[in-house]
Amino acid sequence: MKKIEHLGIAVKDIDMSETLFESLLGTPSYKREEVGSESVITSFFKVGDSKIELLQATDEKSPIHKFIEKKGEGIHHIAFEVDNIEVELKRLKNEGFRLIHEKPKMGADNKLIAFLHPKGTNGVLIELCQEITEED
Ligand code: ZN
Repeated sequence: MKKIEHLGIAVKDIDMSETLFESLLGTPSYKREEVGSESVITSFFKVGDSKIELLQATDEKSPIHKFIEKKGEGIHHIAFEVDNIEVELKRLKNEGFRLIHEKPKMGADNKLIAFLHPKGTNGVLIELCQEITEED
């Protein structure tokens, strides 16, 4: 894995949290995007080489809605950037990690993503992401 690409933070009100993180980080959100498959609205901030992703549920089936019901607002996942997500998923499966997604899917911010089950990673939800480049 190359680096921590972003930290995902579950929030109840993305408008309020966007304003909050703008003052906290001293920089505006550079992208807001809805991901229909996950029922979330996301908002991204650049912090040096990493990013912060705010996530708000758009309906009650959203994983973010369930997360906030259970644990409240807060850090939801850590996303690691990888060169080849398929290869990395195979490697982790062989290592015995539980995968939520066997195959990568389209995520926010022009990326292929997949999640590992937090039960296998000390309660931390791990996201793998691979930038989609022009050549792909
Ligand atoms: Zn993420």
